[in-house]
Amino acid sequence: MSNLGKERIKEIEKITANILIDSNQNNKCPPDLYKICSANKIYVKRDLDNKISEELAKPAIEDNKSIIYLNPIVMLDNDKKRVRKIVAHELGHIFLHPDKVKTQNCSYSEEMIDTIEEKEAETFAEFLLLPEKDFELFWNVFEDKTKMEEFWVVPQDMISKRIKQLGLKNNKEPILSKILNK
Ligand SMILES: [Zn+2]
Repeated sequence: MSNLGKERIKEIEKITANILIDSNQNNKCPPDLYKICSANKIYVKRDLDNKISEELAKPAIEDNKSIIYLNPIVMLDNDKKRVRKIVAHELGHIFLHPDKVKTQNCSYSEEMIDTIEEKEAETFAEFLLLPEKDFELFWNVFEDKTKMEEFWVVPQDMISKRIKQLGLKNNKEPILSKILNK
């Protein structure tokens, strides 16, 4: 299993923080992915010409334009949370691995592919969609994974992963048990 080094994780966090600032989406909860794409001249298109078949999404750089092709199948169930996760992941490849994107060497499938690039794109998506400070702030308000999922518009597995990464605790439980034990 390949893991990212601490330095690289910090670097990715810095890159996503700068993207949020440059796209005027810092402190926006949840950040608007459409605005991030348009601020960076990245186009999100439905793959109507079948450039991808088995994958769910694929980033491309064509005529110096960055494009994220989405398999129409992704749009069918109108699952915003899943689409946001997929688009943020592909943005990760465009920002972190432009050379690989140019050679058409990455695509999205939901089976976790265990390469450094895939891990980096996952980490990028987590940092971009769930910035640390705001995530922590709202966790302290909600202390509930389902409420967090609805609020941040991401699948619950991302919420769970971020809670674990940041070492956040559910503070309500001890208080509740205190009350119940009286
Ligand atoms: Zn990927």
